[in-house]
Amino acid sequence: MIFLNHKMNLTLDEVNNYIEALKNYKEKIIVLPTALYAKEFINSGYKVGLQNIYYEEKGMYTGEISPYQAFQLGASYVLIGHYERRSIFGENNEMVNKKIKSALKNKLKVVLCVGDNDDNNDFLTRQIKECLKDVQESVIIAYEPIYAIGTGIIPKIEDIQNKVNYIKSLTNSKVLYGGSINAHNIDELKTIKNLDGFLIGKASIDAQEVIKILEVASK
Ligand code: PEP
Repeated sequence: MIFLNHKMNLTLDEVNNYIEALKNYKEKIIVLPTALYAKEFINSGYKVGLQNIYYEEKGMYTGEISPYQAFQLGASYVLIGHYERRSIFGENNEMVNKKIKSALKNKLKVVLCVGDNDDNNDFLTRQIKECLKDVQESVIIAYEPIYAIGTGIIPKIEDIQNKVNYIKSLTNSKVLYGGSINAHNIDELKTIKNLDGFLIGKASIDAQEVIKILEVASK
């Protein structure tokens, strides 16, 4: 599973070029565009997720998108608890937990983002337990070390492997790795055992880079 997180990037013209450039790779990717352009991707046959949703069904929440609206639009997935949502917009584990429950209730598949900064698993354990409190359905977990997001730095492969193994020992979730993935390091990253896929940010904005990543990943 390869998720492409565009964050707040690409204009409408760029989106249209991107859709054309990746048309032969549609089956291999799940695109997380800005919500404004989700329909463009859906209408062109891409699998789409939103980068965020709110947990309420409707009401006075200016600027927010409800899980049901996302589902109705045709999104299949939603990213919840991304580090940027936590650090810039103040989301905590409790809000993330409410969003997960609300998304699942509205038939969206959830990619829960978690991440830490060191080998100690205490922070990660708390994040997973609190975010998944009373959640019965399975979710996908994206492990994204904080220091690796958008920095060009990736952890040692064995460190990622340990985290993947640890998350799998706690949950029955599929696990993705995310953080500074590009066409040069994907070869090494794909050697991680029991990993179910990748979440790609910056490199996903460039369709040609995505093609290179997909070609290396599928070798
Ligand atoms: C992300 O923010 O989800 C991400 C993986 O970003 P980047 O690839 O740019 O590190």
